[in-house]
Amino acid sequence: MFQSLAGRSVIVTGSSKGIGRGIALRFAAAGCSVLVVSRKLAEAEAVVAEIVAAGGRAQAHAADVTVPEDTVAMAAAALAAFGRLDILCANAGIFPAAKLGEMTAADFDRVLGTNLKGTFLCVSACLAAMKARRAGRIVLTSSITGPVTGFPGWAHYGASKAGQLGFMRTAAIELAPFGITVNAVLPGNIRTEGLAGMGADYIRGMEAAVPMRRLGSVADIANAALYFASDEAAYVTGQSLIIDGGQILPESQAALE
Ligand code: NAP
Repeated sequence: MFQSLAGRSVIVTGSSKGIGRGIALRFAAAGCSVLVVSRKLAEAEAVVAEIVAAGGRAQAHAADVTVPEDTVAMAAAALAAFGRLDILCANAGIFPAAKLGEMTAADFDRVLGTNLKGTFLCVSACLAAMKARRAGRIVLTSSITGPVTGFPGWAHYGASKAGQLGFMRTAAIELAPFGITVNAVLPGNIRTEGLAGMGADYIRGMEAAVPMRRLGSVADIANAALYFASDEAAYVTGQSLIIDGGQILPESQAALE
């Protein structure tokens, strides 16, 4: 399945680690040329080395998704490196915690600026190349936090992730005439370097809250992104897929026991 992806060109933002790295490795294994993007070039280059060692094709690129010029240069870099731009995985995101009363306006702007405005900037930068081909796939990494659930400390993060879905629905309508689809993956709690920083107690608590009793893997998310990017998903747009091991399902603690 998904053999349609061989030879396609994909930008994956925030792919130096975590979910983005998993998406980059999965798309490379499917035969795509991958632009590995993060702010730190050396870390992006390490992922490229992994892809190339496995026989894939990739190039590293440093860009900050909050900087419009950086996102324009990022799209140009994919075109220059691979001669085409088929897929954008807008995945870069941050999740610093701050409870209401302590959260500053600057905290709020930083999270919305990266997660939501960064999504808008990356999508905007890739449109010309996709419209010219009258084909394209855009896959956003949202979250269950915000669109479906809440978690103390993440009011700004939840707003940014719910905002991505609001953005997606209108983008999907506007871009449908150009053969461009826009969909979103909504991860539950996924084992990443970022999540490891939350501490062992947090991770144990989250595992206990998941009916499958484990956190997700980056491959679980990458496989869903791969589907949205494939020809097989040509008639799917403006949709979101929750990948969370059933985490949002229990009505109460008793439902988990
Ligand atoms: P992570 O391990 O912390 O990785 C974040 C990636 O984004 C890194 O490559 C980082 O590289 C990059 N990044 C951050 N700010 C950036 C910026 N301004 N410009 C360009 N790149 C930037 O995070 P993750 O857990 O994989 O999360 C990835 C996405 O999944 C996020 O959108 C997050 O909200 C979402 N998500 C994660 C989980 C989870 O359980 N992990 C659950 C739901 C949703 P640099 O620092 O070098 O720029």
